[in-house]
Amino acid sequence: MMKCKIHKDDKVMITTGKDKGKIGKVLRILSKKGRVLVEKVNMVKRHTKGNPYAQQPGGIIEKEAPVHLSNVMIVCDACAKPTRVGYRTTEDGKKVRFCKKCNEIID
Ligand SMILES: [Zn+2]
Repeated sequence: MMKCKIHKDDKVMITTGKDKGKIGKVLRILSKKGRVLVEKVNMVKRHTKGNPYAQQPGGIIEKEAPVHLSNVMIVCDACAKPTRVGYRTTEDGKKVRFCKKCNEIID
């Protein structure tokens, strides 16, 4: 399994496609597929039939579609730039992620 550097609630920037340059929060990680769901990014329209039992009306809803991990980059809070992430171990033995641009710890 591919090690995923992106976590839920991370801020990421889209690096390709129609949403290139957009920044959003990670809603879900689909690790088996190597994809992530990013808030308000890669929106697709879905036609729904509705469900009378659940009292859901039919119609068109907009939903996020998963984006491949290779098409997103973590945005560092400290330097506010999309960046590559590295791992390092702190003095108390904890593994943390850090920004390769400004060296700030991301976690
Ligand atoms: Zn940074």
